[in-house]
Amino acid sequence: MPEMPKAYDFHSTEERLYRWWEENGWFKPEARPADAKPFVISIPPPNVTGELHMGHVMFVALEDLMIRRARMQGRAALWVPGVDHAGIATQLQVEKMLMRTLEETREEIGRERFLEYTWDWKEKYGSYITKQLRRLGASCDWDRERFTLDEGLSRAVREAFVRMYRMGLIYQAEYLVNWSPGLQTAVSDLEVEYSEEPGFLYYFNYPVAGGGSIPVATTRPETILGDTAVAVHPDDERYQAFIGKTCLVPMLNREIPIIADEYVDMAFGTGALKITPGHDPNDFEIGKKHGLDIINVMNRDATMNHHAGPYAEMDRFACREKLWADMEAADLTIKKQNYTLNVPRSQRGGEIIEPLVSKQWFVDAEPMAKMGLRAVHNGRVKIVPDRFVKVWDNWLENIRPWCISRQLWWGHRIPVWYCADCGGLTVTTTDPTHCEVCGSAHIEQDPDVLDTWFSSGLWPFSTLGWPEQTPDLLRFYPTDVMETGYDILFFWVARMVMSAALFTNDVPFHTVYLHGLVRDENGQKMSKTKGNVTDPLHVMNDYGTDALRFTLLTGGTPGNDLNLSMDKVASNRNFANKIWNAARFVTRSLNRASGEDQPAAAEYTTADKWILTRLADIIKQTDRLMDNYLYGEAGRQVYDFLWGDFADWYVETAKVQLEGGGARAWTTLAVLQRVLDHSLRLLHPYIPFVTEETWQQLKQAYQATDLGIAPDEGWAEALIVADWPQTGQTYPEAAADYERLRDLVRGIRAARSDNKVEPAKKIAAIVAAGEKTAVFSAQRATLAFLARLDEANLQIVPTADAPEAAVTLALGDVTCYLPLAGMVDLSKEKERLSGELADLEQQIDRLSKLLNSPFAEKAPTAVVQKERDKLVQLQASQTELNERLASLA
Ligand SMILES: [Zn+2]
Repeated sequence: MPEMPKAYDFHSTEERLYRWWEENGWFKPEARPADAKPFVISIPPPNVTGELHMGHVMFVALEDLMIRRARMQGRAALWVPGVDHAGIATQLQVEKMLMRTLEETREEIGRERFLEYTWDWKEKYGSYITKQLRRLGASCDWDRERFTLDEGLSRAVREAFVRMYRMGLIYQAEYLVNWSPGLQTAVSDLEVEYSEEPGFLYYFNYPVAGGGSIPVATTRPETILGDTAVAVHPDDERYQAFIGKTCLVPMLNREIPIIADEYVDMAFGTGALKITPGHDPNDFEIGKKHGLDIINVMNRDATMNHHAGPYAEMDRFACREKLWADMEAADLTIKKQNYTLNVPRSQRGGEIIEPLVSKQWFVDAEPMAKMGLRAVHNGRVKIVPDRFVKVWDNWLENIRPWCISRQLWWGHRIPVWYCADCGGLTVTTTDPTHCEVCGSAHIEQDPDVLDTWFSSGLWPFSTLGWPEQTPDLLRFYPTDVMETGYDILFFWVARMVMSAALFTNDVPFHTVYLHGLVRDENGQKMSKTKGNVTDPLHVMNDYGTDALRFTLLTGGTPGNDLNLSMDKVASNRNFANKIWNAARFVTRSLNRASGEDQPAAAEYTTADKWILTRLADIIKQTDRLMDNYLYGEAGRQVYDFLWGDFADWYVETAKVQLEGGGARAWTTLAVLQRVLDHSLRLLHPYIPFVTEETWQQLKQAYQATDLGIAPDEGWAEALIVADWPQTGQTYPEAAADYERLRDLVRGIRAARSDNKVEPAKKIAAIVAAGEKTAVFSAQRATLAFLARLDEANLQIVPTADAPEAAVTLALGDVTCYLPLAGMVDLSKEKERLSGELADLEQQIDRLSKLLNSPFAEKAPTAVVQKERDKLVQLQASQTELNERLASLA
């Protein structure tokens, strides 16, 4: 029989296994019978420009875990992969590349050629990110991979736009948008980052027509030129006389009204507000309410336009300086004080975002938001963890029109054609040749493209073929779980729920699972500027993919951020080695029995019964935790089981049981197989590579023998398609017995180390086991081996007198004496026993109080009885220790 290699080598394993799984079609739902119940996840599509970061690892690990478990549970598991065209990000990268290579701007190159270059770029680099997802072990069905700009998805986008337009949900309007002067496009709220920066608050006087003035303050004086009102609180006595009058815009002398609005906070600043609906979102709302003019004083490159009068053509910041200087000269200023600004900056370009009114396409999101709210409130979409329901409600209840047009070239071009002759609009899914209104051929398509979130909002159903009623759409929609970062709950998740309600009359998934951010070891957000970014590829090269996956999967709780520690990754690499070594021990022990040793009926030892009981418990726990999305806790428990119970205790005990060969050894090999096999199954969704490789080694090794030991359903071809384990029989009483033995071993080990007994030295022991004498006697060899006792001088008897100069271990009605003659310092032993006695008395005191409290009446009888039994045991130990102390006196 070929031996398992000494160490697990993830370098030579991961890629090989991945290819093998994929070639065998196991990533496809068709790997399961045609009538299997589907389990579907749509991947949150990474940007086509993306480079692998910890956020990707997090979502891939979680979703792959869910998919692999469902597959093992017999579900037709489908994980639909894909990438997003990422409008701005991609366009910027290609622009930079063209500037570097051709020294031409996108305008010089022209739209058509620019798009050709971008598609070439996509072909060349677009698969980088998906290759990296593969390295993470993502078991996606790559034959179903989609791209947000592919033909099918483009059809879905046009269909969605046209339907919404016809329903009156899409309209064109002047509105305040986040304008990026550098990128020359509107950007979404997600693409704006706020930074605290030093600035000024400028106080000045608004001259009132007919005399007097109102003091106001602003952080952006250049917007004064676009003011269309000054607002005060209706109850403010300082300004009461001015309400209804007009005042004059500094330097322009344009007359504007003084209005009253309860929105104004009397206590803040001067208590009066300048209102600039063209350049401030709050002012825009007030302007709408009062029917104020909207004046836009800026061009799209953030220079001032003709509305700025003498300041036209100036840069916005130069205008700020010049206007303030002119106002000072005109004696209109009051003061300029230092002030910390919250400056909106473009996430991509870095320049200051300008709220600007422009003509854009909008989605009236309110009716759809109502559907989104309903879907969560009536329980059809469940959000995990549920504290995010509040966030959901808050967003959707306060939803604003969604600006969907972007002044970019890379994206879904808006399917609207303008007629040069009649001015009419043609909105259609297929490119028209004539104006729908007048029939003219002089039509031109809107130059803008749609916000990337518009297409990703359709993702769960467009990737399955919508608007066609494809077999995939019929079978796999709605999907099951949407797993993503909590930071895009609104931007993406809400939009999917809203558009699914509209277009599919259904929810797109029944559960939203939100994960947190991966932070550095010290809890800092990873950022390139801080230099604390950990590259997942480096970690995988150093420790293996499984170690990284396991660290992220077990390091946190749903919805909470996680601090990534390399020590943890290293210790999880050791866990992979521990698994390997346990399997290696098993495979090397297979020659301890043969098929002839198979007993007619299994005769389990106490240890066998204990580990089988623990296994059943852990399977039950894992299922319960996983069904509640508590993957971290489930993983930690299986880890503890495999490392603690199995490797540290059962494997050690098995060494004794294998010793004599025969039926006992055969049964031990069967138990080893079952427990290790099931543990590997439970761990496979977390750490797919090492579990599959180990499982294959086990399978081959067992199959190469005549032992006839195999999983109940036989050996599957691979672990990835093996069955999820079912709980087996339990033996609670035997399990408790083994745990007493284990406590005794731990006690003896501690006493040995306290008394500095040489690790290799075998010592004598007397175990006064009372009613448990037979049970302990049956485990005599195990006890001797685990505690390093001299078997010839090991007495297991119902009762015994304490020998002189012995260490006493009191474990309830079982007492153990270690006659460490010459090795024990009596005064130290007295000290130790006194300490132990004090501990015991405290426990007894606590428990007695508990049993005299209302607990004894209210708690279930079985629970109370258990506590009473514990008290009896503690009191027995107390008596024993007291006697022992007395004898030493
Ligand atoms: Zn026309």
